[in-house]
Amino acid sequence: MKIIVCVKQVPDTNEVKIDPVKGTLIREGVPSILNPDDANALEAALALKDKNPGSTVEVVTMGPPQAKIMLKECLAMGADKGYLLSDRAFGGADTCATSTTIAAGIKKIGDYDIIFAGRQAIDGDTAQVGPQTAMRLGLPVVTYVEDVEINGDKAVVKRQLEDGYEKIEVKLPCVLTCVKELNEPRYMTFAGIVDACKADITVWDHNDVALDPADCGLNASPTQVARSFTPPAKGKGEMLTGTVDEMSKALIGRLKEKHML
Ligand SMILES: Cc1cc2nc3c(=O)[nH]c(=O)nc-3n(C[C@H](O)[C@H](O)[C@H](O)COP(=O)(O)OP(=O)(O)OC[C@H]3O[C@@H](n4cnc5c(N)ncnc54)[C@H](O)[C@@H]3O)c2cc1C
Repeated sequence: MKIIVCVKQVPDTNEVKIDPVKGTLIREGVPSILNPDDANALEAALALKDKNPGSTVEVVTMGPPQAKIMLKECLAMGADKGYLLSDRAFGGADTCATSTTIAAGIKKIGDYDIIFAGRQAIDGDTAQVGPQTAMRLGLPVVTYVEDVEINGDKAVVKRQLEDGYEKIEVKLPCVLTCVKELNEPRYMTFAGIVDACKADITVWDHNDVALDPADCGLNASPTQVARSFTPPAKGKGEMLTGTVDEMSKALIGRLKEKHML
């Protein structure tokens, strides 16, 4: 079985701030990590490989040259091969153009049985890239995957709902987008780190994946970001004190002052 996992290098969002003047993310000095849902996607792929000897797991990302480090981390966890789609022409991509490029890369890798992605990236947060990539490849997609088993030429998938789950049978090849409840990602091994340091990452530009620059990056991004900002901090809360009766009267008074009652 050939399994492909879409992985994205993201800034550690616990450390990201927005420049109040420019309205853009301040990325300087912010460490980058493997997007958390993608770690679950990779673990699902590696677990399938463990159960099906002879299978391979290949990771693919679109990003700047430094995303190679994240791909090497994936190799150190157990992935067999890494692909970096990197080109100035891919810069400024919205989700529409991102999925066009990823799908072109996956088409070139070819012969896949199953494609995993995270449900969403913690920086962009749209959860659109997985389903859009499936659409571009003409594949069925199941989102919010919290369990997966392979049964012949089908995947039997548990799909998370707010108050339960759905069990869905989907024909391979397909795209599955994964949530954190799916598994606990494994750690990199020492031998894996040594091998990953020596491994080559395949780097492809727009020519390699047969994309016209007009069809990728900013040129093919219909989304316009009008403004990014940090919401102003809310004022300090007020604690009411006294008996229940006194607090209720005070609360009703405050709501009337604000014309909410
Ligand atoms: C006009 C515009 C310009 C932008 N310019 C830039 C820019 O210059 N640089 C930049 O970094 N971002 C840019 N962005 C943000 C960029 O569009 C998104 O980060 C990107 O499309 C992924 O969307 P998302 O983060 O919402 O991912 P989601 O849809 O939330 O991700 C879901 C899953 O898809 C997969 N995935 C997502 N992105 C990738 C990827 N790159 N490679 C492999 N797998 C992936 C992962 O498995 C991920 O878990 C721009 C956005 C807009 C609207």
